[in-house]
Amino acid sequence: MNDRALVQRLNTLRQGLPQRLQRIRIDASNFGERFREDAFGNPLDVIPSMVVLHETVYGLNSAINTFMTHHPNDEDQVSYHVLIGEKGQIVQAVDPSKRAFGAGNSAFNGRWVVTNAKLSGSVNNFALHLSLETPLDGEDDGPAHSGYTAAQYDALAVVLADWMDRFAIPPEHITTHRHVDLGLERADPRSFEWQKLQIRLAALGFLC
Ligand SMILES: [Zn+2]
Repeated sequence: MNDRALVQRLNTLRQGLPQRLQRIRIDASNFGERFREDAFGNPLDVIPSMVVLHETVYGLNSAINTFMTHHPNDEDQVSYHVLIGEKGQIVQAVDPSKRAFGAGNSAFNGRWVVTNAKLSGSVNNFALHLSLETPLDGEDDGPAHSGYTAAQYDALAVVLADWMDRFAIPPEHITTHRHVDLGLERADPRSFEWQKLQIRLAALGFLC
């Protein structure tokens, strides 16, 4: 599977990531600091240790506008660290050191963090959130759509490789919103093909 053209293409992309990353400034209501202590006073590791994949449902600009909008109410506050557009654009909305509001009530491998004793826990304190732009035929609540572009899988692999290196995140700690959601309402990213990601991570030297 590891053809040389793919390896070369991805390594070139990876080297160009710092120039390619578009940083945007979003509204401060939509993200926060990673907590150093939970609601019960237990110390927390602020280094992210897992990645949650999502999809935007509406276009890239719609997601960016939402993140730039001031949201005084907790339930409206939302963000991802990185958005990947259909053409492979990479937009960083929240610095990885900060806490993005990508998931509500959620857990990964039985682990969550409770930051408010009145609410259920979430993975947000130790997660990195990344969202893929949904194709036009997916702008609904149907179960599937035509899927993501090769440019999106390429960009995804390169961003993940960077995070896995920087934060020592193992491949098995890359998961989906569908998998971590405990509210039984999130099924994203729909039509995601793990194999397309695995081929690329393998080409970049990461075993899956
Ligand atoms: Zn999601």
